Amino acid sequence: MSHPLYQRAEFLLGAHTLAQAPPDAGAEVAFAGRSNAGKSSALNVITNIHALARVSKTPGRTQQINFFGLDEQRRLVDLPGYGYAQVPEKVKRHWQAVLAEYLETRNSLMGLMLLMDSRHPLTPLDVQMLDGCFESQLPAHILLTKSDKLSRGAALASRDQVRKALLERYGVQDLAEAKLGVQLFSSLKHIGIEEAQTQLDQWLGVREV
Ligand code: GDP
Repeated sequence: MSHPLYQRAEFLLGAHTLAQAPPDAGAEVAFAGRSNAGKSSALNVITNIHALARVSKTPGRTQQINFFGLDEQRRLVDLPGYGYAQVPEKVKRHWQAVLAEYLETRNSLMGLMLLMDSRHPLTPLDVQMLDGCFESQLPAHILLTKSDKLSRGAALASRDQVRKALLERYGVQDLAEAKLGVQLFSSLKHIGIEEAQTQLDQWLGVREV
């Protein structure tokens, strides 16, 4: 059984700049991905709070870093979805800068959950995020989302291809050496939820109960 901590998630605040973020203490895990990758759905099933990420979808809040408190020490963080074509160039540049600063400087950030559609993983922006994590030695765990849309065989093949591509890109024998993980996920069919929670538990220092 996973810790019931995730069910206690409560919206804390939305930040437009890093200065507005909660104090950089305790531990947090951020969720990132292209818009439409399935990030809100994943946050909803992981916390078992069905309206949780609706907060982040509220117009005006989509372009914020949304912080959710789990307890006094721990947080989940919903980063703005990237790759959305309609966003003006100026706004894109603002977010790239804020995200880069967040990933590089946030001490309480223990790891990044990176969501990618299992049918189209590793887009150039996803790889840019992974390179950023690798350079700052920040652990990243990839959720290959919507895996219910693939046959079991195709889903496993997608996972293996992503693993192989990362081993080659970062020149390692084992993904753990590059502080990386990859798993299949489906919010719809509840695939991989415990595995994702186990990774969160590790990063947030939660012991199983
Ligand atoms: P976000 O933009 O990354 O927050 O993505 P959403 O969670 O809003 O999901 C985008 C679309 O993908 C929605 O139409 C969801 O219903 C759909 N979706 C999300 N997760 C799954 C999943 O596990 N399986 C399937 N089949 N569709 C999903």
